[in-house]
Amino acid sequence: MRIGIYPGSFDPVTQGHLDIILRASKLVDKLIIGVLINGAKKPMFSMEERVELIRRVTKDLPNVEVEGFDGLLVDFAQQKGASVLVRGLRAVTDFEYELQIAQTNHKLNPLVDTIFLTTSVEYSYVSSSIVREIASYGGDISQFVPESIVDDIYKKAGEDKSSARISGRN
Ligand code: ADP
Repeated sequence: MRIGIYPGSFDPVTQGHLDIILRASKLVDKLIIGVLINGAKKPMFSMEERVELIRRVTKDLPNVEVEGFDGLLVDFAQQKGASVLVRGLRAVTDFEYELQIAQTNHKLNPLVDTIFLTTSVEYSYVSSSIVREIASYGGDISQFVPESIVDDIYKKAGEDKSSARISGRN
């Protein structure tokens, strides 16, 4: 059985991510979406919340699972018996960084290979950070993220704003 892992922060999951998930799920027998516990910067959504949102938008895809993970991606892949890592490429600017990561991961574990799916043109400019930014100003995010999670994002963006006001941040 060919198992693939699609790793990322998914803070929050966008239509661009979902497009990659749909296409990657057809290339492997099982696709595990690995949600990074990102120690470096504080995410908008906790790991548990990001996992829950992705589960909601992938509930009709029977060979897709969602899990949080910490530590090295190649270790997570080994633990899950995965031989394929999936990444999305939006633009040339993604390429240099992604190439470096893919080569490093292959060096760390030669049994694991990375495949890149190029974004569908209609989503090439969509990113989680742009969605967070638009939501924080109350702008329309409905065309960038799956409909079932739109309200969760506005709610969280509202909470972030009021906690920033209380703590004096802006
Ligand atoms: P990161 O792992 O850099 O924190 P993200 O969670 O934003 O990234 O994205 C996870 C993966 O999805 C990456 O491979 C990224 O290139 C890809 N991706 C992000 N947005 C899109 C998009 N709009 N179209 C296609 N792929 C995307």
